[in-house]
Amino acid sequence: MKINTEDTIAAISTSMTPGGISIIRVSGERAAVIADKILCDTPKGEKKRSVVSQKPNTILHAYAFDRGHILDEVMVSYFRGPKSFTGEDTVEINAHGGVLVSRNILEALLRAGARLAEPGEFTRRAFLNGRIDLSEAEAVMDVISAKNNYALSSSLKQLGGVLSEKVKNLRNKLLDDIAYIEAALDDPEHFSLEGYSPVLQKELALLIDETDSLVKSFSQGRMMKEGIKTAILGKPNAGKSSVLNALSGYERAIVTEYAGTTRDILEENIHLEGISLLLMDTAGLHETQDPIEKIGIQKANEAATDADLILYVIDSSLPFDPDDKENVDNFRDKKGIIILNKSDLPAFVTEETLREKGFSFPVVTVSARDHTGLNQLSKCIVDMMFQGDISFNDEVVITNIRHRDCLEKARKALCLAAEGIEKEMPEDLLTIDMLDAYRELGFILGEEIEDDLADRIFEKFCMGK
Ligand code: GDP
Repeated sequence: MKINTEDTIAAISTSMTPGGISIIRVSGERAAVIADKILCDTPKGEKKRSVVSQKPNTILHAYAFDRGHILDEVMVSYFRGPKSFTGEDTVEINAHGGVLVSRNILEALLRAGARLAEPGEFTRRAFLNGRIDLSEAEAVMDVISAKNNYALSSSLKQLGGVLSEKVKNLRNKLLDDIAYIEAALDDPEHFSLEGYSPVLQKELALLIDETDSLVKSFSQGRMMKEGIKTAILGKPNAGKSSVLNALSGYERAIVTEYAGTTRDILEENIHLEGISLLLMDTAGLHETQDPIEKIGIQKANEAATDADLILYVIDSSLPFDPDDKENVDNFRDKKGIIILNKSDLPAFVTEETLREKGFSFPVVTVSARDHTGLNQLSKCIVDMMFQGDISFNDEVVITNIRHRDCLEKARKALCLAAEGIEKEMPEDLLTIDMLDAYRELGFILGEEIEDDLADRIFEKFCMGK
């Protein structure tokens, strides 16, 4: 897709549902001229003032018109480039928040000479005009689509440039080393590579460590952004569906007194203490001859294998069943929590019983029926998945798979350079790998990216952003 960046573009930037106000945004060289064509000072269509001569960063009261018909009474903000989001002259028309009103104003602007913006085109222009780098542009969309407060705060940090700073820092260090090697190769009289290998080796080791910890932060970042994939397992009737319902706060799963009613996987995205869980309720784990139930149990096992976290539900009102131990042992390599459910009934099985039987996962006692113990459960999940700390302080957490891939490639290139030193390869060959790493890190910021990659990134944006 070849987008003309010279056009003045317009779009409705607020959601297309009735609301208090809606904003129609116009950006480009002719933004003020085009806005003037549809704006008047009075409901009768008189015009004395104009947006073109309006002081930048101020708001003007006006009436929008189309072919002699009044469309709405509006407030008009004017930002003169480069001091605007896109870096271009931008006019934002605040209209009453009706879908029809907003559409009529947009159509009037299009008739007056603006082109309808492509999804994400305002942000794309901000990127092309150097107002933000690519990782910051991607953060704009992440802020809009954040599903919980932790994902939101991480995206806001990225928008504020923490990731860009970190990546620029890594690139600068690399560039210093590359520049030194190049200088020494060009001018050996003044720059010596004598004894440089151990210095470079140390620096590369630090850079590898830093990129490595960024790559590793992705698994937490993904859980923060998309939710922790959580499989609820247990024998039939232990209360798995009831736990899911209690956690999600409404009757999502069918709860029955008959064992084996949940045969397919039910998925629910829930928010607990600021984190998101992608909960999968599964068929009860037990021996069965029923072919449909067998498929359900196989799916439960698959869900468990794919999950970040397993919540294993045990009915504490029944005597201990060794099958529970066997089932839990099958997932001993995963992160898991035992939920002792039905605490409102007299207990046969307690945490002590489980410890005696050799269970090592943390145990939380709940009553899905009475909704007790759920706070302890969410605290236990946060402790387990985020080591009790999901603020990450100032740490940079990678939440975007594109960034993870670039970092992984950069890390590999740095490792090749480090291996090259060990093999005593000539310095000019080392710089090839170091430059590869430098370039991969640059892709995160959007340097040298191809148009089709930019298209792919921005087409995921919503209209008007
Ligand atoms: P699943 O087969 O593991 O999904 O179990 P369900 O959620 O369908 O529950 C099985 C039965 O246990 C139903 O009759 C529920 O009402 C009952 N049940 C579930 N949780 C509790 C609880 O905390 N206390 C009590 N007393 N009954 C519960």
